[in-house]
Amino acid sequence: IKVLICQGTGGLASGAKAVADAFEAEFKKHGVEAKVGKRCEVIGTGCRGLCANDVLVDVQLPGQEAVTYDFVTPELVTQIVEEHVLNNQVVEKKKAGPYYAKFLEKQQRIIFSRCGTVNAESLDDFLAHRGFEGIKKAVTMKPEEVIEEVKRSGLRGRGGGGFPTGVKWSFCKASPGKEKYLICNADEGDPGAFMDRSILEGDPYGLIEGMMIGAYAIGCTFGYVYCRAEYPLAIKRLQKAIDTCYEKGFLGKNAMGLGFDFDMRIKAGAGAFVCGEETALMASIEGQRGMSRPRPPFPAVRGLWGKPTNINNVETFANVSYIFYNGADWYSSIGTEGTKGTKIFALTGKVKHTGLVEVPAGTTMKEVIYDVCGGILNNRKFKAVQAGGPSGGCLPAEALDAQVDYDSLIKAGAMMGSGGLVVMDETTCMVDIARFFLNFTRVESCGKCIPCRIGLKIMLEILERICSGEGSEGDIELLQDMAYDIKKSSLCGLGQTAPNPVLSTIRYFRHEYEAHIKEKQ
Ligand code: SF4
Repeated sequence: IKVLICQGTGGLASGAKAVADAFEAEFKKHGVEAKVGKRCEVIGTGCRGLCANDVLVDVQLPGQEAVTYDFVTPELVTQIVEEHVLNNQVVEKKKAGPYYAKFLEKQQRIIFSRCGTVNAESLDDFLAHRGFEGIKKAVTMKPEEVIEEVKRSGLRGRGGGGFPTGVKWSFCKASPGKEKYLICNADEGDPGAFMDRSILEGDPYGLIEGMMIGAYAIGCTFGYVYCRAEYPLAIKRLQKAIDTCYEKGFLGKNAMGLGFDFDMRIKAGAGAFVCGEETALMASIEGQRGMSRPRPPFPAVRGLWGKPTNINNVETFANVSYIFYNGADWYSSIGTEGTKGTKIFALTGKVKHTGLVEVPAGTTMKEVIYDVCGGILNNRKFKAVQAGGPSGGCLPAEALDAQVDYDSLIKAGAMMGSGGLVVMDETTCMVDIARFFLNFTRVESCGKCIPCRIGLKIMLEILERICSGEGSEGDIELLQDMAYDIKKSSLCGLGQTAPNPVLSTIRYFRHEYEAHIKEKQ
């Protein structure tokens, strides 16, 4: 008998620990194991996506399909144990409703296939679910062939830029030098984004495996996971997984007995948004202030400690494991021409079922918001979705048919980014939204270059003027001019993309800016 309880950060915040304790106590009180003659296991899993309905619990009796209960409280546990576990009578009224099947219907949970189904902290569970099959397959190939396989899969970096992963690996591999570094960017600073955190919490061994494959292919012997300190559970579970791998000889000299050396450690960052930018991230690992550096030289040539370095984010490395489980042909059969595989999105804001969804690239925005996540909260009218975090853009209802892939989203005026989708309803002021995101990037600017440091401040002042009814004619044009100049002249990605929310809201919601300005006249 298995009871699977979502124990990601979302589940725990909703009381998952108390629910797990209640199951243990009820099992003991009723002597369930002796009564039914079966072993009872209460298993803490990673996030299964439907954070809005936590605590989610699966009860699985031998030979039967698992039954999912939502909004489970410790008080409900007695009834579930007495009726369902002991008497095989499902507590129908407390079962997750039909929406749950709908939530899963259009998803293709590949990267999340172990999240919610296995014990996130158990190496044995990981091994029982194809764990380390990928690295074992990779080492039967030459490193160049591993890179070719990743190129053939069509995998593009999931951190935002969408650069082809295999090509990126080949640059670092081609750089001269024996000492090379592999970095996993787990800084995930976009407001409303928590995809990477959930992978780290729910499948930490999967990330280690993806990094091992990358290290073998490129020739790196040391890897860092740069993770924001605001993710304590992710850091705890990953550290436990790393420690277990060392104990078992899966990391270190002659890792897993596969003939190559790979060490890794976690570096906790202090949560500066700019440290998601590759050069600032490396400066932070080196113990310096997290500030961007001019490129070239690119990290593949001169990166961490001046050595060739390859950086990918958590979701990218997680994809790599599955490419080697199932092959590049299988992987490239999923998604669209330009974006292969699936993409994980974090849905927040005015949407019914907030949480994490994993869909094949090419699914439309409408399907994600309405079919998977149940539509707009309180049945209000959809107004816009901010795609791609503070560097992305706001898309209106007309863009709901846009496919979620790198090229379609850029064409529509947003970007995939790392996968944050903030949904807004008819009551939202779009100028205020632009002001919110610009304020975020202004605060997070490292201050090294003038266009970003001063330009964003002036743009914010204009937006605040408009929002408070003090805007003037010509403000919209001034905002646009400044936005284009800042994008062109900023040193790093933060400044180059920070004006995007302003530009996209002007593009689609100019009338709201004009209405604010008219208020004054
Ligand atoms: Fe720093 Fe902004 Fe310049 Fe980037 S663009 S280096 S964040 S000031």
